[in-house]
Amino acid sequence: MPANKLDDWKGIWVFAEQEENSLSEISLELLSAAKLLARKRGETEISALLLGHGVKALAEQLLVYGADRVFLADHSGLAKYLTLPYTRVVCELIRRKKPGIFLLPATSLGSDLASRVAARINTGLSAHCTQLDINDQGELMQVVPAFGGKVMATILCQNHRPQMATVRPGVFRRGEPRQKKGTIEDVTVESKLEDENQKVVASQREKKPTQSIEEAEVVVAGGAGIGSREDWKWLERLAENLGGAVGGTRPPLDEGWISEGQMIGQSGKTIRPKLYIGVGISGVIQHVVGIQDAKMIMAINNDPQAAIFQTADLGVVSDFHKIVPLLIEELKKIF
Ligand SMILES: Cc1cc2nc3c(=O)[nH]c(=O)nc-3n(C[C@H](O)[C@H](O)[C@H](O)COP(=O)(O)OP(=O)(O)OC[C@H]3O[C@@H](n4cnc5c(N)ncnc54)[C@H](O)[C@@H]3O)c2cc1C
Repeated sequence: MPANKLDDWKGIWVFAEQEENSLSEISLELLSAAKLLARKRGETEISALLLGHGVKALAEQLLVYGADRVFLADHSGLAKYLTLPYTRVVCELIRRKKPGIFLLPATSLGSDLASRVAARINTGLSAHCTQLDINDQGELMQVVPAFGGKVMATILCQNHRPQMATVRPGVFRRGEPRQKKGTIEDVTVESKLEDENQKVVASQREKKPTQSIEEAEVVVAGGAGIGSREDWKWLERLAENLGGAVGGTRPPLDEGWISEGQMIGQSGKTIRPKLYIGVGISGVIQHVVGIQDAKMIMAINNDPQAAIFQTADLGVVSDFHKIVPLLIEELKKIF
């Protein structure tokens, strides 16, 4: 794109992810990110893009959490997420309105949509960003862990617009609700949105843990060292006695002991609990990037050389089979 045309692309957009008439937390976090970037860039308008059916109340909620404008595409064909109809509506709007920056959640839905849209619009995309900033030229600095987390790469999208990034859940915090202001702009959607190559055959909701790891004050996380689903119950009992939530590393997700929303780290959630207890976790960087903002980090590992002890405030070198039941017993005496 010629340099003089880049300035035609203005404003910051956020894709508001919703499922079954409920906005995901990351949608509100993205509005906070957009606000920070807008301040640095001297932008005046933050827009949220909301697709769905019968979701006007969610558009109002976005205005309360910082959007100045909500583009609302309401259509029965958008009630459930499908890649092709969503891509079509989003691309059409981008071509018409020309946003300078477009942020999407680094969730399954956001990652699926962002890559399609970027390819169709012929622009760049940085996936799973852990930090965003604006440089002196007003460009979006998109920070992504690279080479297994050993390097933090800053990526710029210099000759194409919009500058697109997906952002990991938990990197930004949702802002305080404010007096509702801003406008909702209805987006006209072509009547036939269905695509014969795609249809929802069945859908099943993932069973959600009672408390999310991003909100919990105490998180008990387990790793491959737990060894079996049977022993995983020790972590659940420990978390229960501390009023906390259970999370984990990649191997427990692969084993099916936790769900996707419980994985902590580079490609999972970033958490900030008051207390994190890591059990049977080696402490590689891909996991540690997700826990470094915890106030207190405690690690239980039977290998004194485990890397997690370099990050931990408190380390216990022990087989977890010995220490976790003891901890639970002691906690029961206190609470
Ligand atoms: C691109 C990429 C992204 C990734 N993203 C993530 C991510 O977001 N989150 C993530 O977690 N991983 C991620 N990974 C995987 C990551 O590299 C590691 O493989 C994973 O974090 C290791 O998990 P772990 O510590 O549970 O297992 P291991 O490294 O196998 O460690 C198990 C630990 O348990 C200890 N142990 C064994 N038995 C006991 C016992 N009885 N009592 C106490 N301790 C015991 C062992 O000493 C060992 O230290 C990613 C990898 C890649 C390549």
